[in-house]
Amino acid sequence: MADKTRKFSDNAPGRYYVDRDCVLCTTCFELAGDFFPVSRDESHRFVVRQPNTPAEIAKVESAVAGCPMGAIGDDGDT
Ligand code: SF4
Repeated sequence: MADKTRKFSDNAPGRYYVDRDCVLCTTCFELAGDFFPVSRDESHRFVVRQPNTPAEIAKVESAVAGCPMGAIGDDGDT
């Protein structure tokens, strides 16, 4: 389960975030690529913007469920 106290600083502020358990795989990119680019230092993925529409939220939720490390949280600060 992701921990918002361990989230990367490059996540966009808001509900969804990636924490330090990320192992830089491709799962979230395959499920919701628009939202999970690789970080500038190429060490992890991060939430580049928060989803707004129901369709966008569904995509990001699929990444939350699919992340093999449980590194995507949905309880970040709004
Ligand atoms: S699916 Fe999880 S572990 Fe893989 S890159 Fe995305 S956040 Fe990181």
